[in-house]
Amino acid sequence: MLNVSGLTMEFGGLKALNNVDLFIDKGEIHGLIGPNGSGKTTLINVITGFYNPTGGKVGLREKDITGYSPYSVARLGMVRTFQNINLFPEMTVLENVLTGHFLHITPSLVSVIFKLPTYKEKERKTLKLGEEILSFVGLSEQKKMKAKNLPYGKQRILEIARALMTIPNFLVLDEPVAGMNDQESDMVSLLIRKLRDDRGVTVLLIEHHMRFVMSLCERLTVLNAGKVIARGNPEEIQKNQEVINVYLGTGRVRNARNK
Ligand code: ADP
Ligand code: MG
Repeated sequence: MLNVSGLTMEFGGLKALNNVDLFIDKGEIHGLIGPNGSGKTTLINVITGFYNPTGGKVGLREKDITGYSPYSVARLGMVRTFQNINLFPEMTVLENVLTGHFLHITPSLVSVIFKLPTYKEKERKTLKLGEEILSFVGLSEQKKMKAKNLPYGKQRILEIARALMTIPNFLVLDEPVAGMNDQESDMVSLLIRKLRDDRGVTVLLIEHHMRFVMSLCERLTVLNAGKVIARGNPEEIQKNQEVINVYLGTGRVRNARNK
């Protein structure tokens, strides 16, 4: 599904990514872990078209998408969420989800489009899809609430819901459960599994919450200082001495005991 090879991303003199390879199968839930500053978000930014890499290739299915814009990447079914909350705080929950339908245009433009008479039929369909997705993620009851008034965990779930409006086949999540309590992160875990099992969505996610990552992901790639230091299933990764030295043993990860 995803085939990244020899990826390099330099910022000034800094190599944020250094010859990174990453392979993800269709329908896989893949985890990307590593210490802060190891290049995880940069890798996602390159894959989803937000950065143009200094070297290497990004292949999606059989297509070379290196240098594609975020819009073009999204059109191919790959959609991402951001490490920090990126909602429209004054808009309602439902309105926020509906903006996902328009990929990368502004909320003012969304409201203009909704007022066009020719848009009526599409509007009905979009609205129906929005309501279905809110129901799928368990946010129907809050649909008229302003996004800023949702509890933190639900705001993050709303971001995932918005990404689903484009009906992605590949979802990329940057620290989806950061700052969530256990109940909220369990909900996100169920949601991601449901997306994969019911809809065949492929998932790439970054997280520091180890219980979440190790129970959800089938395979993992570990980055350190811009390089891949390990790949494997959760059991292999948890036993890997280099991964323990640079990351798992450092006390910076969140697990069942250490929250
Ligand atoms: P992670 O997500 O693993 O914490 P990042 O990918 O955000 O790490 O950052 C990797 C390195 O690249 C860091 O040293 C960071 O400061 C640097 N970096 C990331 N984005 C930029 C940018 N736009 N300009 C300059 N340096 C950047
Ligand atoms: Mg990051």
